[in-house]
Amino acid sequence: MKSELVYLCLLWALSILGAPVNKQRQKVLLISFDGFRWDYDRDVDTPNLDKMAKDGVKALYVTPPYLTITSPTHFTLLTGRYIENHGVIHNMWFNTTTTEKKPYYQTQFVNEWWDNGTLPIWITAQRQGLKAGSLHFPGTASSYQGQVAMVREVEPLLYNYKNETAWRENTDKVMGWFRDQDLDFVTLYFGEPDGTGHRYGPDSPERREMVKQVDRTVGYIRQSAKQHGLTNSLNIIITADHGMTSVYRNGQVEEITLSKIPGFSFRDLSFHLVDFGPSGMLLPKPGKLEKVYNALKGSHPHLHVYKKEEMPERLHFAKNDRILPIILWSDPGYVINGVLQFHKGEHGFDNQEMDMKPFFRAVGPAFQKNLKVGPFETVNIYPLMCHILGIQPEVNDGHLNATKHMLVTSTTTQGEFISD
Ligand SMILES: [Zn+2]
Repeated sequence: MKSELVYLCLLWALSILGAPVNKQRQKVLLISFDGFRWDYDRDVDTPNLDKMAKDGVKALYVTPPYLTITSPTHFTLLTGRYIENHGVIHNMWFNTTTTEKKPYYQTQFVNEWWDNGTLPIWITAQRQGLKAGSLHFPGTASSYQGQVAMVREVEPLLYNYKNETAWRENTDKVMGWFRDQDLDFVTLYFGEPDGTGHRYGPDSPERREMVKQVDRTVGYIRQSAKQHGLTNSLNIIITADHGMTSVYRNGQVEEITLSKIPGFSFRDLSFHLVDFGPSGMLLPKPGKLEKVYNALKGSHPHLHVYKKEEMPERLHFAKNDRILPIILWSDPGYVINGVLQFHKGEHGFDNQEMDMKPFFRAVGPAFQKNLKVGPFETVNIYPLMCHILGIQPEVNDGHLNATKHMLVTSTTTQGEFISD
């Protein structure tokens, strides 16, 4: 009788203190809308994103790792590591000996490109008894130390990334995985507004229309979570891999054309990755490094040229064998070798540039409500997700301290009461 009373008092005290009494395990859905820049909600009416911010957390912006391109930055979301540390240094697999290159989609299937010593969160979660899934998220097609996400779907080669009906079907599919297969963690990828931002530019009406489509989809995602009975267990994090900036049209500015730079010759290179965007990597032939470097360094006021070992530390893009000896990037608006430039928008610039910053929203039982927070680096999303899921993170470059102020003061993880 007495112990029962103590128990009731304890329950009462817990309820007063606002501690969660239910022991339901927390789930996490990580969503990426490719190329959604931090300020895309400022010139478009976005009622669903606004509602999500009111019901949860909105960051002013987040800082992606350098190089600000799709596969490397997504692998940072999955691992909490800077690109030099996780090794997925480019969208394109390449072999400097054979000079073979594979484009973005084909590189998804090159296992050794991805399975390179760093485990993505799906595998870590599964090794610790959770169930993970992924739909279209970069890195999904590869296996890691022989393991894959237990439920996964990779898009076909010719895939229409902007079909809103397919977005809704994919949303319902993922919610079904959570409800019917009791998955704990899923990553979900949408290929827009990146495609539209490239094609029409970030300041175009087409981009604003696509942001409206994203916003409707955010509303649909939250409605679908509710209909699947997931409101009390599912935490939804929505972010992106990088932003987008307008590029100058041909003839508007003095272009950066490597072949026209005095003293520079492609014949001095044994391999290069210069892909009509703002970044490039060069492997000079033996004995030619100084010649190539001296020709390029200072050759154009908007071209940055670095030897790998002299790269600014803050970019965390040097200490990896896959990174080539000379690294180039241009200032916003400029592209390298853009003679065939047909994109009106680009990314891949310095991650300090505001136009490269993605957005961030989170909602769910683990998150505070109506909270606006300052910017943080996307390496910190990984330890946040591990904390909510109650799993031990791998070695990573993020810190829970950077994001834990977004969480309710105490969170039930794995049925345990943890306060921090
Ligand atoms: Zn992208």
